[in-house]
Amino acid sequence: MSKISIIGSGFSGLSAACFAAKDGHDVTVFEKNSMLGGRARYFYEQGFLFDMGPSWYWMPDVFEKFFNEFGKSANDYYKLIKLDPGFQIFFENQETLKVPANIEELYQVFESIEKGSADKLKKFLSEGEFKYKMGMQQLVYKPALSWMEYANYEVLSGVAKSHIFTSVRSYVRSFFKDERLVALMEFPVLFLGAMPQNIPALYSLMNYAALSMGTYYPMGGMYKVVSGMQQMASSLGVSFLANCDVSKINVSDKRAGSITTAQGIFKSDAVIASADYHHVEQKLLNKENRNYTEKYWSEKTFAPSCLIFFVGVNKKIKKLIHHNLFFDTDFEIHSKEIYENPQWPSNPLFYVCCPSKTDPEVAPEGMENLFILVPVAPGLIDTEEIRQRYFDVLIKRMEKKCGDTFSENIIYKKSYCLTDFVQDYNAYKGNAYGLANTLRQTAVLKPSIKNKKVKNLFYTGQLTVPGPGVPPALISGQISANQASKYLKSIQHEATV
Ligand SMILES: Cc1cc2nc3c(=O)[nH]c(=O)nc-3n(C[C@H](O)[C@H](O)[C@H](O)COP(=O)(O)OP(=O)(O)OC[C@H]3O[C@@H](n4cnc5c(N)ncnc54)[C@H](O)[C@@H]3O)c2cc1C
Repeated sequence: MSKISIIGSGFSGLSAACFAAKDGHDVTVFEKNSMLGGRARYFYEQGFLFDMGPSWYWMPDVFEKFFNEFGKSANDYYKLIKLDPGFQIFFENQETLKVPANIEELYQVFESIEKGSADKLKKFLSEGEFKYKMGMQQLVYKPALSWMEYANYEVLSGVAKSHIFTSVRSYVRSFFKDERLVALMEFPVLFLGAMPQNIPALYSLMNYAALSMGTYYPMGGMYKVVSGMQQMASSLGVSFLANCDVSKINVSDKRAGSITTAQGIFKSDAVIASADYHHVEQKLLNKENRNYTEKYWSEKTFAPSCLIFFVGVNKKIKKLIHHNLFFDTDFEIHSKEIYENPQWPSNPLFYVCCPSKTDPEVAPEGMENLFILVPVAPGLIDTEEIRQRYFDVLIKRMEKKCGDTFSENIIYKKSYCLTDFVQDYNAYKGNAYGLANTLRQTAVLKPSIKNKKVKNLFYTGQLTVPGPGVPPALISGQISANQASKYLKSIQHEATV
């Protein structure tokens, strides 16, 4: 049995562990933190259960496909419910737009805002469906080691029909005029970490995922997904070592023979690094074994980081639903403050998740659990005073928009920002979501899933293919484990001939 060491226990590391164990390897996951799950950890305080990272469960088919690979279903580990409405947007002037789960109702909402837009939405979503299916079948499960992987008729003709050289911004505006509809249609690509004008319209597949497939929630919180994966990995024979910081990948003769950790040195036949790519390269490898230089990283476009507040309120806030987007300020200015001229935002858009609207387990009865998130540029100076200033502003804006006061009812508050991402996850510049999915950072142009100098070292996670987000992390783990198994098979074959 070959030994595979996996560095990091986020979604990508857990996924890689399951696939590597299924292939018959002896797998150990090494995690620096005391809890598994990486950016998707949770904490419990004063009766409130806070998910620390992802809160949008989109693309349920990818999760289901993942569990099906092992003869299981997501339902074996958690109860998934479809949210209705999926989410709401607060605009200026007390206006809100709720996105119903039922697509026919959504067409009506569009038509009531802009005449003729229901038919346009049908066309938009049908093109999105084509891109989604083509992407899932032809693109995202590839290791992206060479453009030749994409050189076949189906892929090329699919990509040609996918508006790859048009931006999401101009694509959306060619369908809709009303600024509220434009904001709604541009929002899902914000998950990809760049401004809509810099994201290829191929990614309108995200609209299909968000609006046609819908928004889901695992009862008990997003951590249920992590626990389910951990449980499944353990049943496949994977071992986990928490509080086990990896400090070195020991390379000789172009092979990673072992890793040095806080709990000793562990021999490895292959290593899969799911910790942040930059950290693995710059801190765990000697210079001659790195794929990329510091200059390479400094020139990459990173997805935003974020300022988060976990808040417990001892009353109900009527106007909130599970997912709430506060788009009541100028998105152009905020996005420039993230990407073009990085600085703390002057008047930011923000997002509020209120899972207590759906789940009685996450807050005491009669209370609300709030997760407030402001996207900010990576690499900013982050101080307690700055965080507090934003907190006061955001709560005031929420009170105004919701027509309710609750600042006096806040009984728990904790902030989380750039310095925490660096400290907890070794995140380059405190990034939250990895690299942006711009055209110049797509497929082969992303940091490679394979180390080019160390034959048995592979990478996985949001900084390599296919990109940021939980579903891509599950896929990334699968691709990386396949590459590791392929390598191990090839050396076994060499040894027997
Ligand atoms: C606030 C926030 C909100 C998000 N919201 C959503 C959402 O709603 N929907 C969605 O789909 N996605 C969302 N994302 C993105 C998604 O959570 C991530 O893309 C995904 O979880 C990344 O998984 P990963 O395995 O690549 O990395 P990580 O989760 O970061 O895992 C890497 C692991 O490596 C460990 N590690 C680092 N260095 C070492 C070392 N030296 N030794 C040992 N271990 C080490 C880290 O502790 C960590 O556990 C969100 C992310 C954040 C931060």
